[in-house]
Amino acid sequence: MSFYFDNNASTPVGPEALQAMERALAEVYGNPSSIHAQGQRARRIVETAREQVAALLGCPPKTIVFTSGGTESDNLAILGAPPGHVVSTAIEHPAVLEALRVRGNYTLVQPGPNGAVEPGAILAAIRPGETVMVSIMHANNETGVVQELPELPPGILLHSDGVQAAGKIPVRLSELPVDLYSLTGHKFAGPKGAGVLYVREGVELHPRQFGGRHERGLRAGTENVPAIAGIGAAAEWLTQNLSAESARVAALRGRLEAAILARIPGTSVNGAGAPRTPNTTNIQFAGLEGEALLISLDLAGFAVSSGAACSSGAVTPSHVLTAMGLSKEQAKSSLRFSLGRTNNESDVDALVDAVERAVARLRNLSPFHAVPSS
Ligand SMILES: *Cc1c(COP(=O)(O)O)cnc(C)c1O
Repeated sequence: MSFYFDNNASTPVGPEALQAMERALAEVYGNPSSIHAQGQRARRIVETAREQVAALLGCPPKTIVFTSGGTESDNLAILGAPPGHVVSTAIEHPAVLEALRVRGNYTLVQPGPNGAVEPGAILAAIRPGETVMVSIMHANNETGVVQELPELPPGILLHSDGVQAAGKIPVRLSELPVDLYSLTGHKFAGPKGAGVLYVREGVELHPRQFGGRHERGLRAGTENVPAIAGIGAAAEWLTQNLSAESARVAALRGRLEAAILARIPGTSVNGAGAPRTPNTTNIQFAGLEGEALLISLDLAGFAVSSGAACSSGAVTPSHVLTAMGLSKEQAKSSLRFSLGRTNNESDVDALVDAVERAVARLRNLSPFHAVPSS
């Protein structure tokens, strides 16, 4: 048996997306830029997907630019914006943080202990006349904490990395103060290799890739038609099922958290005090090494994640959890469980049993990892 609780890293492709992709891959081989009938069949697939994604996000289809994924969308937004100072947050995904490093001249605002960034702190970091863009992720990949997207002074672009929000919480872009919004198919039951950057009408962005005039001139290169068909089908499924599915997943997450907190001493939920996406929980297991717990769960058939990055053999604690004020040890003792469409109650109960067993074994193994008595 294998149990998958790492849906914030990637999700299984849903049946609707799979069917749309199989058809596009097997039957629709024309180039969407070609004038002949085969080309126009491919063009129709791309334009239908654009409408499907726009319906999910509540925005006009012409504001949807297809990319290869979340990283490319974040890079295009950050590096394609006009020169000047940028305000962002310390808890962004590396796709934003590394693009900011390439760009230079930016300020990172810290979150509060619950993982939420105060809109007032964002506004205070803006330098009048110098700041051209603010980039705040809509929902955090490690904790699920949902950020408030503030109204900005006129003339400053707002980009939001919505990769972990799209398909999990309702997103109506026409009602949010955002100009640029990134998402990716493979985090919501679509395929890898298809992403979206929403570019509000009238926003001037410089392309990062040059060639043909594809995607409003913002993303040269023949469209990945099968992957775009897949992201479109996944978006359409979510437009119809988001509220029922997010309620179902929220109940599973509640069941998981309640059982772990009740049955395993020394546990607490990171970001519990803030609004969160319904599928994500990040749990601290006091005194334990998260990586060790992750590996024993993997051996038992359960896929979970630690926010820690492993670079050259050394485990560095999550930059998100340390920015929230956790110590390095607390951050390294935390694991992320992210649920999705394929999980059900009996999977969650099996996971809780497995976590309880693994924690008991690891705590018995190591007298240094005893639960603190306070
Ligand atoms: C996964 C993720 C990305 C990167 O998306 P890819 O499609 O894998 O490139 C960006 N931002 C967040 C918040 C993510 O979770």
